[in-house]
Amino acid sequence: MIFAALLTACTAPAQPPATAPAKPGPVAPAKAEPVRAAPTRPAQLWPFTKFRGQDYIALRDIAKRYGLKAAWTKPGTVMTLGDARGVRFTFERDERDFRLDGARVFLGEPAYLSGDDLWVTKVDVIKTIAPIFAPADHAALLPVAPKTIVLDPGHGGTDPGKQNLRFKLDEKDMTLDVALRLKKLLEVRGYRVVLTRTTDTRFSNNPVVDLPMRAEVANKVGADLFLSIHFNAVDRDPQRVSGVETYVLTPQGQASTQPEQDKTMIATQYPGNRQDAANALLGYSLHRQLITDLKSSDRGYKRFRLAVLRTLRCPGVLVEAAYLSNDAEAKRIGTSEFRQQIAEALAEGISNYAATLAALRPAPPPAGTPALLKLLTFY
Ligand SMILES: [Zn+2]
Repeated sequence: MIFAALLTACTAPAQPPATAPAKPGPVAPAKAEPVRAAPTRPAQLWPFTKFRGQDYIALRDIAKRYGLKAAWTKPGTVMTLGDARGVRFTFERDERDFRLDGARVFLGEPAYLSGDDLWVTKVDVIKTIAPIFAPADHAALLPVAPKTIVLDPGHGGTDPGKQNLRFKLDEKDMTLDVALRLKKLLEVRGYRVVLTRTTDTRFSNNPVVDLPMRAEVANKVGADLFLSIHFNAVDRDPQRVSGVETYVLTPQGQASTQPEQDKTMIATQYPGNRQDAANALLGYSLHRQLITDLKSSDRGYKRFRLAVLRTLRCPGVLVEAAYLSNDAEAKRIGTSEFRQQIAEALAEGISNYAATLAALRPAPPPAGTPALLKLLTFY
C-alpha cells in the first residue's frame, strides 16, 4: 500500500522547481549554432480548440492522425477508435479514464462532449495518449533501452506496510520476495539489477527521508529504470476490492488521479517529470502485462506525485500488484507461484518497454541539429 507514500507526498513541503538537467550532457559549444538543419519529419501539429480555458483535441482528429475509425457506440456518451484489429480506444463522456487495448488508463481531465465529438485535453494527448500509442513520434524525448534497473521492494524494517492478519502476511516480506524473484529473471535477460534493499530494513523510520533515499539509489547507480513494488489495501469493503494499480508521476500542471492535498505541488516541475513520456510508456507496458498475465481486476494506470518517484532521474513506476486486504487475493499473494507470476509479468512488461525503445531509436541526428527543433516538428 502506498499510504505512507501518499501521506508524504501530500504533507512534505513542495520541492523547488527543477533547474538544469542533473545528468551530465555534452559540453555546449562556446558559440551558438545557427538553426538551419531541416526538420527530420514533416510538421504534424495537433489541431486544437479552447474550451473552459484549456486546449482540447477532438477524438476524431486523434483517429485521423493514427489511421483509426471513430464511432459512437453509445451516441453522445461512448466513442471508440478502432482499426482492423478491432477497438483500440474507448472513451466515455465526463470520465477521466479510457481503455487502450483493454487496459484502463487515467488522464488528467475527463473527456468533454462538444458538437458530435468527444474531446480530450492537448496535455493529456501529448503527455499520455501519444507516448503510449505512438512512441515513435516521441523518439527524441525517449531514452535508449534500459540496461541498469533498480528495484525497490516497498516498506521494510519497522514499517511492515499493509498486513493481512488472517494469512499472517506483511507487505514488506511480499515485496522483497517479488523483487528478488524479478532480479533473477531480469539478470537472465541481461540486465544489471540493483535493489534498494535486500533484507528486512529501510533507510529511515521517517518516510520523508526514506522514500527519496530509495530514488537516490537509482540516481547514484545511474539507473535507466526504477520500479517500486507494493501490495495494496483498502479499509472499506475490503472483500469487494481487488486487482492491480500502477502509478507514474503526474505531469506538471495536471491533476493526479487522487486529489493533491498540497496544491503547490501541481505547478511544480519535479526531476522525475523530465521523463514524462518514458514514464507513460513504461507504466502502461507494466500495467497491461500485469492485468493480462494475472487475470486480475484492472484498477487502472494512474498518476500521483509520489515521494519515491519525484526526484528520479530515470523513468520510474510504482506497482500495487494485488490487495492484501482482500482475503481471496491475499491467499494468492501468500503462494510462491503467484509471486513468481507477478515477477514474470513485470519482467515481460519491462522487456516489452525495452523492445519498443530499441525499435524506435532513430538514427543519430546530423551534427548540430538541436533536439528542440526535432520536437517542434511534432508539437
Ligand atoms: Zn506499500
